[in-house]
Amino acid sequence: MGCGAADVANLLRAGAATIAEHRVELIDLDRPIGDADHGENLNRGFGFVVSTLDTAVPETPGGVLKLAATTLISKVGGAAGPLYGTAFLRVATTLGDRPDLDASAVVEALRAALAGVVARGKAEVGDATMVDALTPAVAAAEAAENDGIAALLSAAADAADQGAESTEPLIARKGRASYLGERSVGHVDPGARSTALLLRAFAEAAR
Ligand code: ADP
Ligand code: MG
Ligand code: MG
Repeated sequence: MGCGAADVANLLRAGAATIAEHRVELIDLDRPIGDADHGENLNRGFGFVVSTLDTAVPETPGGVLKLAATTLISKVGGAAGPLYGTAFLRVATTLGDRPDLDASAVVEALRAALAGVVARGKAEVGDATMVDALTPAVAAAEAAENDGIAALLSAAADAADQGAESTEPLIARKGRASYLGERSVGHVDPGARSTALLLRAFAEAAR
């Protein structure tokens, strides 16, 4: 199965629905180690993405993702908006104007998303950020590339779930949670959790 602009728009709509559903959970994760706004930030941002897509869907997957990126960057404050925005922007640039994505393009897209987050936030694996979810997700997607888009996204989501859980015992080294030093231990990073939720939504929507 290929994946065109309308399909990518549907993945984003599914991502927005998941974020809305888990808004309070993400807020609660951000409360003890941050400022309790992650769920609200993302929900507002993805809400704007969906209403923009309801007006008109760009012609290419890259166009859809670029629109999502600029919306997230302009509408979401804090760390996560620019980080997710940069991720989507890198994906859009990587995809260019190809009209349809195959499995290898989706893997390339995930690699570009990770590169964007790392370029913007300079976090490494083990710093207790969204990078801890996205890095194993990319590796799992690469390993499952031959199984098709839905299966590789599902493998990526599984790996991201584990990656998000892996942040719980870590000392946060980046972002607001890092201000707490050792007191950040014992909490799942909200951005890692939202990354895992988004990948799960994309995987389910791609089935
Ligand atoms: P803020 O901390 O500004 O309130 P959010 O609460 O929306 O922003 O997002 C916090 C999340 O952003 C963290 O849980 C973490 O996953 C992610 N984050 C913060 N700084 C970085 C960074 N430098 N690199 C990668 N991810 C980061
Ligand atoms: Mg916050
Ligand atoms: Mg904030």
